Amino acid sequence: RSKDLGRNSYEYFSSDMSTSSFENMLMLNRLQQAAQNHEFVAYYQPQIELRSQKLTGVEALIRWKHPEMGLIPPGNFIPLAEESGLIIELGEWVLREACRQMRLWLDHGVKIHYIAVNVSARQLADKNFVQIVRSALNNAGIDGHYIELELTETLVMREDYYAKMIDDLKALGVQISIDDFGTGYSSLARLKQLPIDTLKIDMSFIRGIPEDENNTNISRAIVNLAKGMNLKVVAEGVENETQAKFLMHYGCHLVQGFLYSPPLPAQELGDWINARKAEEIPQYNTAP
Ligand code: C2E
Ligand code: MG
Ligand code: MG
Ligand code: MG
Repeated sequence: RSKDLGRNSYEYFSSDMSTSSFENMLMLNRLQQAAQNHEFVAYYQPQIELRSQKLTGVEALIRWKHPEMGLIPPGNFIPLAEESGLIIELGEWVLREACRQMRLWLDHGVKIHYIAVNVSARQLADKNFVQIVRSALNNAGIDGHYIELELTETLVMREDYYAKMIDDLKALGVQISIDDFGTGYSSLARLKQLPIDTLKIDMSFIRGIPEDENNTNISRAIVNLAKGMNLKVVAEGVENETQAKFLMHYGCHLVQGFLYSPPLPAQELGDWINARKAEEIPQYNTAP
């Protein structure tokens, strides 16, 4: 017995794997506390229609406002939240927060037509998911079309269960988008069957425009595929004018990226909208 214990504790603290699982345990504990202490915040990144250069909607992106460490990006905690199942709770919080924010924007006449919310595989696998979405919409008093749910392709393509669930979600009026399109597994036949509204071209392809021939061709092919299927297409991670020009030339509908704005807290997004409005207004006030 003591020998077992000795070996276990040795393994626990010495091998890389065990050290990282120990750290994960501490981290998970802190994540759970963070949820209780309301340390999560939703940031919002604009999506812009290329032709008109007008703001259409935003994507909600979660951040952890740690009291000592400051703002922690989702890449540092979402994987663990997914692994542990905490993402179900966290994802529900983001969804409810987005619905609440949409209500506020509607009440204040802010012209944002939808909020896109990321949904993880674990949330979608939860039997209560449709009910949670319905309740989030009802509590905020907003119509379904104000929310777009971002799903990942591999998951959705794989099982009939998800096709049924997407039908149920569509019945609530929400829009469905496929995030990071092109990086997972998709059957084009299946894509055609599912009631999807939007494809989001993964950032890794956009980054290659125009120097990387493969990524440039893939980006253009996805735009054409989407348009051929009557889907809305969003390019994410647009960082410079050259990329925007190429995407415009391909006929890509929407863009999202640092060229326009990073994800911002709701208040700052309001300032960003006002600043853009001011830019459009000719300056006559200096005339005599
Ligand atoms: P995503 O859903 O594909 O979100 C796009 C990511 O690209 C965001 O990173 C955004 O800040 C970043 N981004 C946007 N424009 C640019 C750009 O021009 N250049 C570069 N380099 N990056 C850009 P973020 O906020 O760190 O989120 C990373 C990922 O974490 C998201 O990827 C999503 O998969 C996940 N995530 C974020 N919030 C949530 C959430 O509420 N629930 C779930 N399940 N996952 C989330
Ligand atoms: Mg997303
Ligand atoms: Mg994405
Ligand atoms: Mg991504």
